[in-house]
Amino acid sequence: MNRLALCVAATASATALAAGPAATADPSPGKHAESGRHHAAPKVASEPTRLARAILNTKGITYAKAHVGGTDKASLPRQNLVDVSNEHRAKTSPWGHKKGARVALDKRMLNGILKLNTKYHYKIEISELVGGRHSRTSKHYAGRAVDVAWINGRHVGKRADHRGLMKACRSLGATLVLGPGDKDHDTHVHCQW
Ligand SMILES: [Zn+2]
Repeated sequence: MNRLALCVAATASATALAAGPAATADPSPGKHAESGRHHAAPKVASEPTRLARAILNTKGITYAKAHVGGTDKASLPRQNLVDVSNEHRAKTSPWGHKKGARVALDKRMLNGILKLNTKYHYKIEISELVGGRHSRTSKHYAGRAVDVAWINGRHVGKRADHRGLMKACRSLGATLVLGPGDKDHDTHVHCQW
């Protein structure tokens, strides 16, 4: 009896061992249809992922290397895009209202950011996407707003063409656009979709 039980156990674990690596090593699409795990077959990138990759490959779009009000590399705007380009979610800062949450980036916002350069030819530096601290109900925390601090090499509030950029954001479908003259927006433009 003991011997038989041992034998069955050994066979079962050997089968599990053989099945494990084989199942993950073979990327043929049919095999994953029933797994229900979307990370198993990342053959067609989602639209946010595609757009994030396009933005990262656009020379005229650059990124702040530090936050205002705290230090957290994982929630810097470029890292937000890198995460989404890898089919992950973007991380908020530990001191914001959402404290280190993972959120998706809206494809309308990503399309808007990309077209600010590729269609309207603005060179922009993004200061925040989902990172940093914003108002409690801010759409930054929903992945639907971008802050731009530099336009064509000039800082917003210091003779940068913020009006032109704000107009371009509206033309690209942004539903709320704020800048110099609006409360708390003397040094950056906020475009929200
Ligand atoms: Zn903003």
